[in-house]
Amino acid sequence: MGRGPGKGSLRAGLNEAQAEAVQSTEGPVLILAGAGTGKTRTVIFRIANLLEKGAEPRNILAVTFTNKAACEMRERVGGMVRREAAEEMTVSTFHSLCVRILRVHAGLLGYNTNFSIAAGSDRDGLIKQLIVRHGGAKQKIQAWDVASAVSRQKNSGMPVGEIPDDLIRTVAMSYQRELRARNALDFDDLLVLAEQALREFKEARDYWRERYHYVTVDEFQDTNGLQMDLLMQLVGPPHNLCVVGDDDQSIYGWRGAQVSNILQFGHFFPDPKVVRLENNYRSTEAILSVANELIRNSPSRHEKTLRATIRGGEKVALMALPGDEEEAFWVAGEIRRALAGKNGRWEDFAVLFRTNTHIRKVEQIFRQEEIPYRLVGAQSFFDRREVRDVLAYLQVLANPRADVALLRILNTPPRGIGANTAMLLLEHCREHGVQSWAAMKDESFTGQLSARGAGAVRSFVELIEGFSSRFRGAGDRVGEALHELLQEIDYLSWLMRSCRTEEEREQRREAVGEVGVALTDAMKRGRSLQEFLDEAALDAEPEEELEQKSGVTLITLHASKGLEFPVVFLVGLEEGVLPHWRSTEEGTRDEERRLLYVGITRAQKQLFLSYCALRRKYGELVRCDPSSFLEELGEEWIVERDYVEEMNALADDDDVNDFFGNMRALLD
Ligand code: ATP
Ligand code: MG
Repeated sequence: MGRGPGKGSLRAGLNEAQAEAVQSTEGPVLILAGAGTGKTRTVIFRIANLLEKGAEPRNILAVTFTNKAACEMRERVGGMVRREAAEEMTVSTFHSLCVRILRVHAGLLGYNTNFSIAAGSDRDGLIKQLIVRHGGAKQKIQAWDVASAVSRQKNSGMPVGEIPDDLIRTVAMSYQRELRARNALDFDDLLVLAEQALREFKEARDYWRERYHYVTVDEFQDTNGLQMDLLMQLVGPPHNLCVVGDDDQSIYGWRGAQVSNILQFGHFFPDPKVVRLENNYRSTEAILSVANELIRNSPSRHEKTLRATIRGGEKVALMALPGDEEEAFWVAGEIRRALAGKNGRWEDFAVLFRTNTHIRKVEQIFRQEEIPYRLVGAQSFFDRREVRDVLAYLQVLANPRADVALLRILNTPPRGIGANTAMLLLEHCREHGVQSWAAMKDESFTGQLSARGAGAVRSFVELIEGFSSRFRGAGDRVGEALHELLQEIDYLSWLMRSCRTEEEREQRREAVGEVGVALTDAMKRGRSLQEFLDEAALDAEPEEELEQKSGVTLITLHASKGLEFPVVFLVGLEEGVLPHWRSTEEGTRDEERRLLYVGITRAQKQLFLSYCALRRKYGELVRCDPSSFLEELGEEWIVERDYVEEMNALADDDDVNDFFGNMRALLD
């Protein structure tokens, strides 16, 4: 089969247990193994092996936790077999899988298959409007309160109407009605409805079972009940389902993940072949020993062996610092020192932390010290205001009944369809049970408007209709069509006028340009306009996605799952930060320990742990204690370092650079 290694070399680079998992292609398979034992690698080899053995790429589905992991997996499989084969497989998150299913079968549930996806700021904006409409602003509920309550209900299979809090329930129910009226689904609806479609309709089940013969799920310990239900519907006999995970790394309990999915896998898919991997190939013995010491304290865990294949290694450094500013300077200094004179890369380093607020200091100091970095959970490209504007235009061109998008661009840039007209429009739609697009083309609505208002609406409709056909005929010259559209509506000049600085102007102009590039790219990859928009919408939820640029990685512990870096800094190891103060109240301290375990096991060669005596919290300096987890790490592989002593030694050294001089000055 084409370019790439033959069967012999496929087995090379696998140990015996891994090879066994790769060869077990039929029936349910459970790979339950510790961190860095090659689970993900095994899955990738297993897929390549399936393709080698003649499986059709379109019959293969691999589910990953993030879009980034999906891209990586596709790329790595592509490096082993024909690239076209890798393109043809489905590698996606649960959410994109559900979009795929619903684009075909939403009709069975009475939804329109050309629904749009309400994510990121579009969804939050809608919720905010509804909070105001229901008089909630004074009572100070946040969009987040509603969004998370709705999400919890949907994921546990409960109606939104049963949310206990009155106001949240009212807003939530009206949110659900609005989504429905606007033909939009949010992230949780995607899962709920896809599962329902498969469960209730044999025709849908048959269709997708016929499509996917081989299914793989990585990071299975973090799936929730609904995702398990979906898999049970999707994977029929002979149950060619391979799931991979590590119960010690289960860190999404707070979001409803059920570790029982992996521990009781055999209950859902009987008689699985169970493969255990025990050799860790990622970390040195020093790092792995510290990790093992920690996780031994985890109650009711399934004992497993985890051996380092890389003996010895540098001891894990534990650093106490006076404050978070010193901590940030210290990390910057260590990185610069490690890179000085060597040809290492910024990308070899990662700084891991408990929550986003804890990284601001590091970010600020890195900027000041000109250390390039990339941030996880930063505002997603696809959630930028101007990008969402352009996407909304594209969405309306693809399907003018996409109400969320239509309302966004109605008067963007201003064209005389003001807030009053929009309000009349919404009222008209609610009264007559029609969608905005239909109303805008209807005399009975435009007749209510002033002559100017009616004229503005008519020219908007003409604009959209004109460009819809222009886009349909554009083929892979959609970039040009988009450019023409933006010219026609004079979008850029309007956008530029709203910017305050030259830098902002440049960033926004570039972002608009990038949409065109991304769109053209997608078309070249054979995607439809709607598929491109789906991918963009799914990317708008930035939580776990990493910025695509080079530099030191700044990442939350949650988002670091599955990744590895030569050098890792785990900062802010203080009681109240990790374990997080809320975990004591909520009884989730064990999950916090696993989170630390995930962090430690990301490191390949060197690991630095640090905590501060004082940390700025809500603008005030607060005294902190070291994390109680630090006592669980053992002593053998840890070296405690004294910050003040090191600073003094450095200051005496002739080679000391300005940087450390500055830091000392700061201390004094
Ligand atoms: P995690 O639990 O963090 O998701 P994992 O079990 O998925 O980890 P991988 O990321 O697949 O582990 O592998 C960890 C590292 O070990 C990778 O760099 C991988 O290339 C390497 N590795 C895995 N198996 C082998 C092997 N048999 N020989 C050499 N290197 C290996
Ligand atoms: Mg993995």
